[in-house]
Amino acid sequence: MATQEFSSFKREQKDLINLMPLQTGGILTDAAREALVEFGDGFSTCDFCLGNLCNITNPPIKKFAHELLPRFLGCDVATITHGAREAKFMVMHCLTNPGDTIIVDGNRHYTTVVAAERAELNIIEVPSSGYPEFKVNVADYIPLIEKHHPKLILLTYPDGNYGNLPDAKRLGGVAAKYNVPYILNGAYAVGRMPTSMMEIGADFIIGSAHKSMASAGPCGVLGMKKKWENILLRKSAVYKKKEVELLGCTVRGVPLITFMASFPYVKERVNHWDEQVAKAQWFSQELENLGLKQLGGKPHRHDLLHFDAPAFYEISQHVPERGYFLYKELKKRGIWGPQPGLAKSFKVSTFAASKEQLGFVIDSFKDILQKHHSKAV
Ligand SMILES: *Cc1c(COP(=O)(O)O)cnc(C)c1O
Repeated sequence: MATQEFSSFKREQKDLINLMPLQTGGILTDAAREALVEFGDGFSTCDFCLGNLCNITNPPIKKFAHELLPRFLGCDVATITHGAREAKFMVMHCLTNPGDTIIVDGNRHYTTVVAAERAELNIIEVPSSGYPEFKVNVADYIPLIEKHHPKLILLTYPDGNYGNLPDAKRLGGVAAKYNVPYILNGAYAVGRMPTSMMEIGADFIIGSAHKSMASAGPCGVLGMKKKWENILLRKSAVYKKKEVELLGCTVRGVPLITFMASFPYVKERVNHWDEQVAKAQWFSQELENLGLKQLGGKPHRHDLLHFDAPAFYEISQHVPERGYFLYKELKKRGIWGPQPGLAKSFKVSTFAASKEQLGFVIDSFKDILQKHHSKAV
């Protein structure tokens, strides 16, 4: 193995117009990029630790975790996790026993299923309306709650496949009526759009810092009602300062410090969510004008967009690169977005790109279609 291979990592995608849904909300701010280098060394956040990560005052983790995050999430108590999935597992692990049943939406992320498997739970899914809108009607939780008496319910808000925002607040009313703890998985919401746990009426709110809060990650947040604090954040019998479910301390170093450094910017950017939605709707309409079909709810209310692209699929059947042609054509033009290899249907996010950049993306799609069409005839 050449040493070179492991001594000089390069990633050209970082200089392209980024439309990849996983990445658009996780791009670092300049402040975070500086903090990344400053705190790059292992355990660097722990210089002044007195035994509990969330009580460190230099850097101001205590203020961040105990004041800023709860206010931002509209919850009573917040803690830092390794990601959204770890937060989900933590709640499931604390509130259920193996063999218990939970109810989740049919658009749930795969990590919801894997977390539930790890906690040895039965999962009941509330089906979506299916093609093409894939909408989840939260009223459909009611008969399933009455039938299965779940220990927990979970809603994905929005889901990571279609960017649909179901009626989370209405489900809050249902959860209160049936007295069942309610997890709101906001991996694609918290840090992008205003999201308040109390307003929605959830018991838990979960965010992903590397997905939607401009952090290097892996890092997440878990917000909860005060009444869950003693269970979720219970301390070790042996080590009085260490939370059992967090295995003592969660993220140390770069994941957390970049999250904190970006936070003032993230807190501000959610106020511009209306502009993000308008941009996404405009982009979606322009691609539909080119013959693509947007899946999920319409008019769309999130920057995550999923398109069926029969014309691109048709092209992929006649070019040597097959499904990879779209990725290659876009890359040539400085655009990074649809998963390489996919052309028939793909997801993009308009969150990080300016309207001018998106205009260029639309023209590029038009170009690619015309170029291959004229070749075919
Ligand atoms: C990305 C995503 C996750 C996983 O987030 P991590 O922080 O990486 O665990 C969970 N749920 C949804 C809906 C997502 O889109």
